Amino acid sequence: MSTKRDYYEILGVAKTASQDEIKKSYRKVAMQFHPDRNPGNKEAEEKFKEAAEAYEVLSDPDKRGQYDRFGHAGMGNRGGFGGSGHMNMDDIFSNFGDIFGEDIFGSFFGGGGQRGGGGGRRQRGTRGSNLRVKIKLNFEEIAKGTNKKIKVKKHVTCNTCNGLGAKDKNAFQSCTTCHGSGQVRKVTQTFLGQMQTVTTCPTCNGEGQIITNKCTSCKGEGRQYGEETVSIDIPAGVMEGMQLSMSGKGNAGERGGAPGDLLILVEEEPHPELQRDGLNVAFDLHISFPDAAFGVQLEVPTIDGKAKIKVPPGTQSGKIFRLKGKGFPSVNSYEKGDQLIQVNVWTPQTLTADEKAMLEKMQESGNFKPNPEKSEKGFFEKVKDIFS
Ligand SMILES: [Zn+2]
Ligand SMILES: [Zn+2]
Repeated sequence: MSTKRDYYEILGVAKTASQDEIKKSYRKVAMQFHPDRNPGNKEAEEKFKEAAEAYEVLSDPDKRGQYDRFGHAGMGNRGGFGGSGHMNMDDIFSNFGDIFGEDIFGSFFGGGGQRGGGGGRRQRGTRGSNLRVKIKLNFEEIAKGTNKKIKVKKHVTCNTCNGLGAKDKNAFQSCTTCHGSGQVRKVTQTFLGQMQTVTTCPTCNGEGQIITNKCTSCKGEGRQYGEETVSIDIPAGVMEGMQLSMSGKGNAGERGGAPGDLLILVEEEPHPELQRDGLNVAFDLHISFPDAAFGVQLEVPTIDGKAKIKVPPGTQSGKIFRLKGKGFPSVNSYEKGDQLIQVNVWTPQTLTADEKAMLEKMQESGNFKPNPEKSEKGFFEKVKDIFS
């Protein structure tokens, strides 16, 4: 306990410092000793932890009061560090969100997507890029879901060296630019003043080592241009323009780097008779006037084979029948759409003399006078009905 430095001294603030000053100072000290910027430096790590501990106490008015009165002896276990006297690194990093804002460390310390969690460690190889493919599906395939096997031309891991890029395990040498750390330091101006930043070593690409004896098949890349048959499970209910992704099925990475993803863009093949509207399917049914008057039984296409429907006698043109549950399934719920069938009654466009005579007879009957009350609802009403 007695070897502990004074918390105010650690953060370089006066005993009378405001909360704001304490926060500011901690920010400065934490950045200076951040492990990402001091890879492998034990002393910096200790200072980093020390600062976090000091901030933890001084930022809390209760703890600060206790510390002011009794010093380190007054902290006991109240500081929250247990017997060890140190905070765990994860705790320190999890507190950063409040102090620095969400992503400041990501951008300041060159976090990037290629690094593993924790930061500061060497990366292996370079991640492969994502690949995009289009896949055409018909209504039936979309309705039920399907499996497609497609040949994808892409970078694949080199068979000869298994992605290593080198002749063998001894064909590596520590990088002389970064001395194996994979990182180089650079001083830059930032909004917080002059900062030392760490960037990926350009010589070894952050790997810390270079290959002295390259694999001849892939010329040291660890990957080759090739082809792979990928089996893609398409869930039921996908839609035009949707993008599925299969992680790791994109281009192989360089020298053992992680592979990219395969992105699959869904294209809908138009159906000759059916139209899709979200989960619903629309079908235009054309019937003759006698069928509309007498009623008729017939078959209509659906996304799942044919379905029998009964058109009742006296059906009006424009009538919409609904086949419940005969639409598409939702891709992310148990919901299912319907099939809507709109009746279109055909009006003859050419007539023989006999037919003309028959129709003239019909004209005299009151039954043939349109009755708006019993006709189909207006267009506007119908649209509201269908799409509500
Ligand atoms: Zn290097
Ligand atoms: Zn190779």
